Amino acid sequence: MKPSTLRIGYRYRPGRLAPEYDALVIGSGMGGLTTAAILSELGWKVCVLEQHYTAGGYTHSYERNGYEWDVGVHYIGDVGADTRTRRMFDFLTDGKLQWAPMDQEYDRFYIGDKVYSAHAGRQEFRDNLVRQFPEEEEAIDGYLGLLKQVGGALSMFGMGRAMKPWMRTVATPYLRWKTPDFMFKKTYDVLSELTDNQDLIAVICGQWGDMGLPPKQSAFMVHSMIARHYLYGGFYPVGGSWKIADYIIPQIQKTGGEVFTYANVEKILVEKGKTVGVKMSDGHEIKCPIVVSSAGVDNTFNYLLDEAVVRDAGYQKKLKEVRPSVGHLCLYMGLKETAEELGLPKTNFWIYPHNDYDRALADFSESDDAEFPVVYVSFPSAKDPDYLNRHPGTATIEIVAPAPYDPYKKWKGSTWGKRGDDYEAYKAELSERLLRHLYDKLPQLEGKIDYFELSTPLSTEWFSAYKHGELYGLDHTPERLQQEWLTPETKIEGLWLTGQDILTCGVTGAMMAGVLTTTAMVGMRKISPVMKKIFG
Ligand SMILES: Cc1cc2nc3c(=O)[nH]c(=O)nc-3n(C[C@H](O)[C@H](O)[C@H](O)COP(=O)(O)OP(=O)(O)OC[C@H]3O[C@@H](n4cnc5c(N)ncnc54)[C@H](O)[C@@H]3O)c2cc1C
Repeated sequence: MKPSTLRIGYRYRPGRLAPEYDALVIGSGMGGLTTAAILSELGWKVCVLEQHYTAGGYTHSYERNGYEWDVGVHYIGDVGADTRTRRMFDFLTDGKLQWAPMDQEYDRFYIGDKVYSAHAGRQEFRDNLVRQFPEEEEAIDGYLGLLKQVGGALSMFGMGRAMKPWMRTVATPYLRWKTPDFMFKKTYDVLSELTDNQDLIAVICGQWGDMGLPPKQSAFMVHSMIARHYLYGGFYPVGGSWKIADYIIPQIQKTGGEVFTYANVEKILVEKGKTVGVKMSDGHEIKCPIVVSSAGVDNTFNYLLDEAVVRDAGYQKKLKEVRPSVGHLCLYMGLKETAEELGLPKTNFWIYPHNDYDRALADFSESDDAEFPVVYVSFPSAKDPDYLNRHPGTATIEIVAPAPYDPYKKWKGSTWGKRGDDYEAYKAELSERLLRHLYDKLPQLEGKIDYFELSTPLSTEWFSAYKHGELYGLDHTPERLQQEWLTPETKIEGLWLTGQDILTCGVTGAMMAGVLTTTAMVGMRKISPVMKKIFG
């Protein structure tokens, strides 16, 4: 088979490293790449170290059997107009990344035997919801009002994270005053104050899979952030999600930096409370007084730092306040007809057994024989106008469902592709169950699947290095979002954090975390010209 063109980044070898770097970044996901690209814009020489065979973190894509799939990007919002998000992507990718809009109906919710949808555009979204729930007009307007109110508070939240601790202490009363108290309430509790219509609540929370927690557990802040993000519809990166990293890497190389793959960091080296570099898994040490970890909070504190360093810096107790998010299954499918021939929409399907999402997830967590609490179906080749240029005459589909890590523990430590017959049999059964959902909604696809393979939380652990196979880093509970220590600056001199655990999950969440991290690192005065260049 010819080597995949999707493998990007430069294979790590100690001899390929420059003698010195201004900063090391662990992980080439959106958080790490954004941080590295902004620092490069400031003239820094940055070395990004990625353990996987390709760069991009959850934005990477892979090819097999003539098909190509994204692993962690199904749609991105807020890029269809001249928004801050769009400007940021344009800056990072030197204006090269293009976006293709999805259908006007970007999300469709199958809840039990009822079908609802989300339509692109604030007014269209509202009117469509009112059409579906005519007796709930007041509640719907009340809900949209809350989303509006949250906008400024979300910026304040981010700004607070980037401040120096003393500054945050001074600013706390102001930040609190600007933060409506419902931000940190449970999503369900906030919505229940507007309506007791459980179907409406279910539709409003129909995207809970975008952050991994159902409404009785998630923070309204994250719910509202996602709802606002997609209010004007969904967009797909033209050429596939791997193009995001492909276009960012040259920005990092401009100042002599590099993005290395197969570069597994084993330890962050700390001496007398100061960061001095990293030790790679081949034993080579790269010295540098500034290290940014985008590998996730769990990896950073529980695996990359020595226990004594974590204890001395006072993190041990704090780490108990957060927990990993749920894992996931993804069924990657290839078909030998085009999306158009097969009638595949540019709409995501969310399939729920009933409108009590929390109960469905709890039932499934107790027994994986229970119905899947949500089955999400995405049609990437239909969304990407360039797909057929790369893979003529074919189409792809992905099905995602939550998967708690526990049932997979018995295979922990086994090698990818060689986990044994019992694992393969378990996967075959799960695949069959997921396929039934697809055929139920699109019966024309029965007998048309040419190739499929299922990833499990163990695949996430293997390829993306999340030790619990977690889908979205730390769980997005109200408690997690109020952890004052989850900031770019750590208590260990020279060590910084970025990525989805610092702000929120999502490609844009990780990207904005990169902005916060660089702001915290260099200070407002130095970052201002860059921000001016980006946002005007
Ligand atoms: C199935 C799925 C679907 C999703 N769909 C969407 C979507 O449609 N839209 C959206 O906006 N978001 C989506 N997301 C979420 C989004 O992809 C992530 O929140 C975001 O990309 C995370 O970026 P990050 O930089 O924080 O982390 P990551 O992208 O996970 O990057 C962290 C990187 O660190 C590397 N690493 C870890 N340990 C080490 C080490 N020791 N040495 C070197 N490297 C290391 C990992 O290999 C990884 O590449 C989805 C996620 C998943 C899993």
